Amino acid sequence: MTRIAIMGAAGRMGKMLIEAVNGDDSARLTGAVVRPDSSLKGADAGELAGQGRLGIMLCGSLEEIVDDFDVLIDFTSPALTLENLAICARHGKRLVIGTTGFNDEQLSALEGYASSVPFVFAANMSTGVNLSLNLLATAARALGDAGFDIEIIEAHHRHKVDAPSGTALMMGRAVAEPLGRDLKTDGVYQRVGQIGPRSAREIGFSTVRGGDIVGEHTVLFAAEGERIEITHKASSRLTFGRGAVRAAHWLMDQKAGHYDMQDVLGLKQALSDDPQA
Ligand code: NAD
Repeated sequence: MTRIAIMGAAGRMGKMLIEAVNGDDSARLTGAVVRPDSSLKGADAGELAGQGRLGIMLCGSLEEIVDDFDVLIDFTSPALTLENLAICARHGKRLVIGTTGFNDEQLSALEGYASSVPFVFAANMSTGVNLSLNLLATAARALGDAGFDIEIIEAHHRHKVDAPSGTALMMGRAVAEPLGRDLKTDGVYQRVGQIGPRSAREIGFSTVRGGDIVGEHTVLFAAEGERIEITHKASSRLTFGRGAVRAAHWLMDQKAGHYDMQDVLGLKQALSDDPQA
């Protein structure tokens, strides 16, 4: 039985995570944290998430419940996630991180915990997106230097605070790496005015924000005469929640290190077993 605590339990993902843990026979919710000033403190976590009473009280600090869980699942903000990594390092806990929007400095701080904390960090926990990353690398190898322009279009709900999405950036890296390109120099994030023709190397990102869109990503390979589109559409956040719980179970057998969903789903192994890869 994997004992799981949820950080940011009152958030859009927090409630989904409570539902995902509650729906998994091998997992038990043993803690749920909300903001220290939240009026929800003391309420039942299951009732907050529409799951009925689970007997787990929402609390205002991770330190309060740090002895009660094996794995913390954290979908909050970069600064808070880094604080939680420090607490997990001190107490020998594992972490599943779904938070996106880390800057370079925050990413290197996160990397610093790879020697002391077993953690999975993935901007998208869905099985479909992680399989898409493999399809994209294959498509990029075949098409990227053969006259196909690569563009990435993503759409999310109106509340999302970072852009482009962490998933769009992951997809960008998946196509850039096999082609020897780098998003720092080849990524194009804005086009406005007299911008001139497109260069062959660039990887363009377009962002749509509106309403309640859960998350949609299309990678377009466009040549003269034909185009290929690889699209993933998430219709429920529960898919991310279930992926995070799967990652939590997987982490129970891992030593300290930085892992991603490709590790959890065995997709890296599948790729390296492929003699064509
Ligand atoms: P949200 O704003 O609804 O939730 C964030 C929650 O964190 C809020 O409830 C907020 O109160 C809470 N929080 C902030 N400070 C806190 C503190 N000090 N203590 C306790 N709780 C605190 O946002 P969301 O839509 O749930 O997304 C959260 C993050 O997860 C974003 O970075 C988003 O991009 C990411 N996300 C990742 C995936 C994935 O599969 N990896 C999927 C969906 C969303």
